[in-house]
Amino acid sequence: MAYESTNPYNGKTVKKFDELTDAQLETKIAAAAKTYETWKRTPYAERAAIVAKAAELMHAHVDKFAHLASLEMGKLINEARGEVNFSANILAYYAKNGERFLAPTKLHPTVGTAHMESSPIGVIFCVEPWNFPFYQLARVAGPHMMAGNVVMVKHAGCVPQCAMAFEQLWIDAGAPVGLYTNLLISHQQSDKVIDDTRIKGVALTGSVAAGRSIAARAGKNLKVSSMELGGSDAFIVLEDADLEKTIPWAVWGRMFNAGQTCCAAKRFIVVDEIADKFLEKFKTALSALKPGDPMDEKTTHGPLSTESALVDLLKQVDGAVAHGAKVVMGGKRIDRPGSFMQTTILADVKPDNPAFRDEFFGPVAMFFRVKDEDEAIALANDSDFGLGGSVFTKDVARGKRVASRVETGMMFINNIDWSDAELPFGGIKYSGYGRELGDMGIQEFVNKKLVRESDVPAPVV
Ligand code: NAP
Repeated sequence: MAYESTNPYNGKTVKKFDELTDAQLETKIAAAAKTYETWKRTPYAERAAIVAKAAELMHAHVDKFAHLASLEMGKLINEARGEVNFSANILAYYAKNGERFLAPTKLHPTVGTAHMESSPIGVIFCVEPWNFPFYQLARVAGPHMMAGNVVMVKHAGCVPQCAMAFEQLWIDAGAPVGLYTNLLISHQQSDKVIDDTRIKGVALTGSVAAGRSIAARAGKNLKVSSMELGGSDAFIVLEDADLEKTIPWAVWGRMFNAGQTCCAAKRFIVVDEIADKFLEKFKTALSALKPGDPMDEKTTHGPLSTESALVDLLKQVDGAVAHGAKVVMGGKRIDRPGSFMQTTILADVKPDNPAFRDEFFGPVAMFFRVKDEDEAIALANDSDFGLGGSVFTKDVARGKRVASRVETGMMFINNIDWSDAELPFGGIKYSGYGRELGDMGIQEFVNKKLVRESDVPAPVV
């Protein structure tokens, strides 16, 4: 059964869901394509009313949505509430700004007049991960629907109830049938959806492996795509960093969402002069986290999303150790029911260790000691990924210089990667291409059309 709600806190399966038959899938694609024909001509104000209503309903039912995320993927309840509110804010942001972002822009040709128009392109197929089961959906639904596209989503197998609750949200907000469609489908059916001529764009947020497969399929069909993939962000600590402020960011950066965040701090690169102090304080702070029921507000260390995620992470840690990494703390599952991983720090991960290039999707930090700022930057850039990163220093101008030299899509000075509705989010290298959020996020799946007028005689042939 590919779609099932299993509580990772106690391993109990709550509900299972059947995948769609091919005939059911065809009915849904046909409905989406039909809705596009009217939605693309629906005025911005009417689109905005539905998207804003969905935002309002999310805000009004934060606990209902948050409970589902905690239940299905183990998110700490307060983090889940934060995610739901943020998702609603993203929808409200696009309801308010979508029309302005896509307004025609004037060009200045030497002859005549010209402008660029932004028009929708059709049905967009989005494949989304479980780690932010609502936020990831809001990031695609809000902008693309405001642009006049319609959206079909294949969510991850472990969060079907979140997926269905988000679809119901649109029905409750008054959206026409087919504007937002949740698809409980297999990977093979996903390929068929990408091949379908009624689908005009493909967006994925997920792993590099999924990116290779889905981007290739979209490419074969010459369809525009955006890829938000993994990361192994550097957390650079320079010798002049204020550790009182830096350590809480290190803990949050690695442990938020039980460490299952694409732009989490994953490689801690610390200048030698301050490295021992940093490591001691980091260990102490991580040791203070309390594993427990994610629904309990006092819990500060939740389970991983699924048992298989834990088994995979343990294998990765064992592999790193087999190739020479040293376990500074943790490294094992926590001896209790549920899919809990100890907070872990690995040191001595050398470039010939496969772990050096890996993404650890859970509470596992890699610790590196470097001579100076230049070495920190070189190490940060020695990665297949290029999503985000951060630098800690009391000298903000120095922080900005370092940020400019790190090769990623996003850099943060004295804080950690986090997104805001108005800030573009995305990476380079194996972290993918395209941007979500902000003004750029709504431009990914629109036709930028040039319209030119000039009253000149045709050249003589
Ligand atoms: P994943 O295995 O790639 O799954 C993500 C989604 O892709 C799920 O819906 C999954 O469906 C689907 N999928 C995977 N392979 C597919 C295929 N061949 N055809 C069709 N659908 C396919 O990723 P994950 O391990 O669950 O999620 C974590 C990854 O996502 C990490 O690498 C993380 O860094 C990345 N991520 C990136 C961002 C970003 O914005 N850059 C944000 C969040 C997460 P099933 O569940 O049914 O397999």
